[in-house]
Amino acid sequence: MSATVAVRWLRLSAAAVHERREWLTELDAAIGDGDHGINLDRGFGRIVAALDTGELPIDHAGTLLAAAGRLVLATVGGASGALYGRALIRIGERLSAAGAAVESAVLVVPEALDAGVDAIAALGRSRPGEKTMLDALVPAAVALHEACETGTTLSVACRAAAQAADEGAQGTIPMLATKGRASYLGRRSIGHLDPGAASSALLLGTLADAVEADSGTRS
Ligand code: ADP
Ligand code: MG
Repeated sequence: MSATVAVRWLRLSAAAVHERREWLTELDAAIGDGDHGINLDRGFGRIVAALDTGELPIDHAGTLLAAAGRLVLATVGGASGALYGRALIRIGERLSAAGAAVESAVLVVPEALDAGVDAIAALGRSRPGEKTMLDALVPAAVALHEACETGTTLSVACRAAAQAADEGAQGTIPMLATKGRASYLGRRSIGHLDPGAASSALLLGTLADAVEADSGTRS
């Protein structure tokens, strides 16, 4: 993934989160404490401010995303700050470790997403089926691998991942929450969309947009 795509992903994510912050907060008000949209908007707002002032390194996608993850850790409260912050750091580290191979993004990006998902699962001691962001992210990571293995472009593969994340997020509605604040509600958590799964689907959508803008209509 090029640094240009990473910058665009962060900026598009900030705009999408800002636009949907009230919706994300309402989702969290239903089964949590009503701060998810506020939390993420604060974090991504801080990232955009740091991009604008040149505080963030923009030469390499890996170092940029890791630095953005550290900003999220420092500015976003709640479970999602720690989980998304760690995930971005691990994604950035995985991209950096790929070094010169970064141009073969179709090989590296699925592995980077896996690293982010694994970080969330390890930190959250969670797995799919518990009504969390992993219910959007794990199907997205699977779809990304599958699409990339068919030899398609990264752009098409990321769109497939975003679609899988949307479907995964919708799939949280009938689930019983067993992790995070929503688990305190027990069976009353059933029937609501998980806010973290909703924001994860949003972030996969902006990744697809960022990659697509880079490849134009060629891929
Ligand atoms: P908090 O719950 O601390 O107020 P947020 O409202 O920002 O934090 O984020 C809530 C979201 O975080 C949930 O909707 C869920 O998707 C995710 N989440 C919470 N705990 C976990 C966990 N242990 N593993 C994975 N995701 C989690
Ligand atoms: Mg909350």
